[in-house]
Amino acid sequence: MKTAISVSKEDYLKAILEAESEGQTVISATLAHWLEVSPPAVSMALRRLKRDGYVEVRADGVVRLTPKGHEAAYRTALRHHLIERMLSEMFGMPWFEVHDEAERLEHAVSPAFEALLMRKLGEKGTCPHGNAVLPESDATRKRHGVRPLADVAEGAEYTVTSLYERDEKLLRFLQQAGIEPGGTVRVVRRNYDQTVAIETAAGHFTLGPAAAEKVRVRRSSGRNGR
Ligand SMILES: [Zn+2]
Repeated sequence: MKTAISVSKEDYLKAILEAESEGQTVISATLAHWLEVSPPAVSMALRRLKRDGYVEVRADGVVRLTPKGHEAAYRTALRHHLIERMLSEMFGMPWFEVHDEAERLEHAVSPAFEALLMRKLGEKGTCPHGNAVLPESDATRKRHGVRPLADVAEGAEYTVTSLYERDEKLLRFLQQAGIEPGGTVRVVRRNYDQTVAIETAAGHFTLGPAAAEKVRVRRSSGRNGR
């Protein structure tokens, strides 16, 4: 568990924004879990954010960003996105390492350096995990033919479009199973216990539902990556 002081205001705002764009409802327990901080630390942080006009906390406990909070959160998310792309595209850092490195660096870059990155990389495009600046909701993904690996048909071949990037242990686990953005996964069998037997370039593996939920895929349109 991290100390309250190591988790900044920006970390809270970004977590709330990401949850909102994924269509999730945020309560303080969600934040405690995501940011790995204690419930009292979350309550304290939310009181401060509310006082400073960044969030509203409804009577039922639901936390929402104010326009000011949304703007601050978006800037942090964009900075994170740009740094991830810089590390990967300019320095060749492996995709399963860039998230945590970006979490550390994003608090240190100056506005001038951020502007340089923006000019070089642009706001569009996806990070090395296949995600845009803000994650899409499940409904939007579905419209684009993208669904969790946990929900797809047996026997078919899929292309990995994006990965849940908040958990570096998960990313390393997926990497060892040959799952990476742009890679191919064949679903061999869906088992009764909700595990999924898969085949990737790295071999045969079995994924539990906790991991399979966090891999987004699209049906491959044909051989030779057409
Ligand atoms: Zn990313």
